[in-house]
Amino acid sequence: MPIAAADKDAVLAEKRARFAAMLARADRVAAFTGAGLSTEAGIPDFRSPGGRWSRIKPIAFEAFLADEEARRESWRRRFDMDDEIRSARPTRGHMAIASWVQAGKCPAVITQNIDNLHQDSGIPADAVVEVHGNTTYATCLDCARRYEIEALRAPFLANGQAPRCDDCGGFIKTATISFGQPMPETAMRRATELARTCDLFVVVGSSLVVYPAADLPRLAHRQGARVVIVNREETPGDRYADLLLRGEIGDLLEEFVL
Ligand code: NAD
Ligand code: ZN
Repeated sequence: MPIAAADKDAVLAEKRARFAAMLARADRVAAFTGAGLSTEAGIPDFRSPGGRWSRIKPIAFEAFLADEEARRESWRRRFDMDDEIRSARPTRGHMAIASWVQAGKCPAVITQNIDNLHQDSGIPADAVVEVHGNTTYATCLDCARRYEIEALRAPFLANGQAPRCDDCGGFIKTATISFGQPMPETAMRRATELARTCDLFVVVGSSLVVYPAADLPRLAHRQGARVVIVNREETPGDRYADLLLRGEIGDLLEEFVL
């Protein structure tokens, strides 16, 4: 093996050992996950080359409210990715994180993901703090009635109209937070509390550029928690992180099942 590669392996082995020690020592781990955790499950992220971002512009909340064509386009996109979402299964990274929760190390996972895979990995729903909502169901924006995606599909395919609430006529939208839409208060309060009270904050698969969610690791760092970032690319949080595990999330985390 060339010397440079051997050095790299030694550095990674040393980093893994440090992470194992940090996990063993921690009493309160806050896991914070992003789209990179789910790429192994076949759901593309936003910012990797070829990711969704490079192909389609997101529809802002204001446009959704103002424009029937924007609502229709938003629903077309949702049904286009339905197979991807429904066939996705939790990854090696999801399973490692679920084991931290089950071991009592991690009171809750904060996620920017909208794919429900943390719940599917066995983490109780009340221990998944979704700061950007969930796309596996929909709600009426006016009366909050819940609708299942499957039930909305046939009428949409038949008449091409964006769905409206049977009870109040309000717009039905996937239960996700679009750009320009207010952040969910309870989830943000819980996420902030977790960041404020953890002793180890582990970022997994986030580019850390979407605010206010990306402030959370910085908050954890300021209050004295160790911060670990697991990602294949650099992030703005690398400056203050205590440990960077750079590479494929599944390969890196599969050995950290507690
Ligand atoms: P992002 O797309 O901005 O960043 C993902 C990061 O993960 C990138 O830095 C990328 O290099 C890294 N990455 C991707 N696959 C990886 C792998 N296998 N191993 C290691 N690193 C990997 O994601 P974000 O920070 O979560 O922000 C995107 C926003 O879009 C989120 O707010 C989220 O709500 C939404 N989103 C969610 C999903 C989902 O639910 N699965 C998918 C796409 C976008
Ligand atoms: Zn309604």
